[in-house]
Amino acid sequence: MEDKLTQVYDRETFFKLLARHIISVHDHKVKLALLVIDVDRFDRINKLYDYPMGDRVLQHLAKLLHGVKRDQDYLARIGDNRFALILINIMNAGHAKLAAEKILRLLETPFVIDKNKLLIEATIGISLCPLHASKTTALLKESEIALKTARKNKQHIGITESSIEEQLSDNWDIELDIGDAVQTQQFSIYYQPKLSLQTGKPIGAEALLRWKHRSRGFIPPDVFIPIAEKTGYIKPITSWILNSTLRHSSTWTKKWGPLSVSVNIPPELIFQLDLKDFVSNAIKLWGNDHVTLILEILERSLVEDTEKCFSILKEMQAMGVKISIDDFGTGYSSLSYFKLLPINELKIDQSFVFDLTKDKANRNLVRLMIDLANNFDLKTVAEGIEDRETYNLLSDMGCNTAQGYYISKPMPQNEFELWLENFDMLSD
Ligand code: C2E
Ligand code: CA
Ligand code: CA
Repeated sequence: MEDKLTQVYDRETFFKLLARHIISVHDHKVKLALLVIDVDRFDRINKLYDYPMGDRVLQHLAKLLHGVKRDQDYLARIGDNRFALILINIMNAGHAKLAAEKILRLLETPFVIDKNKLLIEATIGISLCPLHASKTTALLKESEIALKTARKNKQHIGITESSIEEQLSDNWDIELDIGDAVQTQQFSIYYQPKLSLQTGKPIGAEALLRWKHRSRGFIPPDVFIPIAEKTGYIKPITSWILNSTLRHSSTWTKKWGPLSVSVNIPPELIFQLDLKDFVSNAIKLWGNDHVTLILEILERSLVEDTEKCFSILKEMQAMGVKISIDDFGTGYSSLSYFKLLPINELKIDQSFVFDLTKDKANRNLVRLMIDLANNFDLKTVAEGIEDRETYNLLSDMGCNTAQGYYISKPMPQNEFELWLENFDMLSD
């Protein structure tokens, strides 16, 4: 639900979103940050002007905060003059602090309203999950305490105290390092197999990018991909992934029969003029009749510029490429355009699959998605399957394809080939 005044999420939805994302902070290298942003001396604005002015200040702030958040983050209004920003998948406290500093910098420009120049100040409290707390209310409390402490010390940013290791890694210039990683080939591609739920046999794999940093080890893609997108490096990286995966998969299909390969395409790239060219060039170079390329695009990319997006996707399909909607169910998109959608597959987001055997509401939702897909002749893939029970349940529900740690974690190309070589039906 939205907050009526500022059109960001309301407090109730904030708690739901936070709970959902806390669950997915499995990997302790990955973190989530909660920023609580509070307007300083807000009652003064209401007193000096009037209440409508106070409202407009809040609307202005909501807009400004919206500009700071990345696509995957969430913004909510959780109190009268209090906002919360959930930063999904960040590396360390320094990262969250950068976001807070950006907010404060933007607030340095006066906000002009009816010829009045207003300077708003804010204080921001930051805490990290799982480092400081791993329950919604506890995490919120940590951020609010950090905010209070900052205000008491006349500072504008407060972070819940962290260990020394945490602080050491705070000043990392990740943007600079990504450029270097592209030059010096620190990236590699891992493959996570997908099985047919009807036959139990491998039908393809998803390509997942890995970055092994010289001194920091593996950096989770959720951390560096948004930065690669922001800096533009994602384009050469994706082009490299397309070429490499097609080359790899043409080897597999020669040995093990037709296997598809899925590549994640970030929203920005869909709209770039030459996406079609670089997909078709890669296919010409490395594709063969038995290779199927699947492009995974996020549900939210469809919402952005629907018509333009449709025509691009249609062109891809005309080249024999399949289109899959990734993280389906999380994009809040409208169902009305479904009949027009040039797609082949729905990939049910792992947040629905995660506790499928225990959560009835999720089971109902997944059933709905499978029904929807059947009605429109689309295949369904369930990702994030971690146990036999979930695998069996999805098979009973009529889902087509399975992917998840239960089958295998993503692995380097040579290990994936060994896996294919030794694959014998899944055992308990
Ligand atoms: P995604 O496309 O939704 O990828 C699925 C993620 O779920 C992968 O994380 C995968 O390792 C993980 N996963 C698979 N099975 C399970 C399971 O059973 N349990 C759990 N807990 N997790 C499972 P990964 O590789 O860390 O990638 C995270 C995200 O980063 C991807 O989400 C995708 O959005 C992005 N990403 C990864 N590789 C690429 C890439 O080559 N290009 C682009 N543009 N994005 C990528
Ligand atoms: Ca994906
Ligand atoms: Ca996904």
